[in-house]
Amino acid sequence: MTEQTRPAVRLTDLRKSFGAFEVLKGISLEAMEGDVISILGSSGSGKSTMLRCINMLETPDSGQIQVGGETIRLKQAGGRTRPADRHQLQRIRARIGMVFQNFNLWSHRTILENLIEAPMHVQKRSRADCVEEAEALLEKVGIADKRNHYPAHLSGGQQQRAAIARALAQHPKVMLFDEPTSALDPELVGEVLRVMRALAEEGRTMLVITHEMGFARDVSSKVLFLHKGAVDVEGTPHDMFTSAPSDRFRQFLSGGNGRI
Ligand code: ADP
Ligand code: MG
Repeated sequence: MTEQTRPAVRLTDLRKSFGAFEVLKGISLEAMEGDVISILGSSGSGKSTMLRCINMLETPDSGQIQVGGETIRLKQAGGRTRPADRHQLQRIRARIGMVFQNFNLWSHRTILENLIEAPMHVQKRSRADCVEEAEALLEKVGIADKRNHYPAHLSGGQQQRAAIARALAQHPKVMLFDEPTSALDPELVGEVLRVMRALAEEGRTMLVITHEMGFARDVSSKVLFLHKGAVDVEGTPHDMFTSAPSDRFRQFLSGGNGRI
């Protein structure tokens, strides 16, 4: 298979319960390299759990997760499913950049230190190299002047752009975003979406949980609508937004769940 046709992420029949509650009821998804997939759904539909399974922040009870063509090996132990190979997990996690709703920057480190921490200590790259690249990334997301500031001194939009730059500093093959603009004041949403659009235009593979319908419609290659732990409907943005091919999705769109 060539690079272009290889799935960057493939989820096959993921199932996950918390106690008696089945949160993921057999979810499958395929993201080819360069795809931008928007994941939509009401609160509680399982979006975060699905995304967190990709880097094993949650372990599915069954199903398969493939990243960059490699399937994460799982084993049964003590009545639970767990990753079977710690080294493989580390290798796969290094290919994935994750951006959370609440930024998750290290509050006691400057923005520059936030960016160079993992490249230096996990990837064992030289400090000079990491600093040079971090500065370029901060420039790219428009906050080069904040390099020596602590996160608390930045606006939410700036913190989120720093978090995106931090994820990029590890050279991920795939970027996962879990409601990256939901914690922001409305006037700061645009600056983060602009950075995300630029990444999409560079051809980055991105899976984005969002309520920003404008982003989903204009930037995605595919839109996936989750309902109660299952994919209710999926398609191109054109198909999804012009014909809303399911009653539930129509209800979701008209129910004020998102912003156009
Ligand atoms: P979404 O991101 O679509 O809002 P989540 O994946 O966060 O949905 O959650 C789906 C359901 O699973 C919710 O009902 C939530 O309360 C439940 N849930 C999520 N994480 C846990 C957990 N660690 N323990 C128990 N229940 C959880
Ligand atoms: Mg969520």
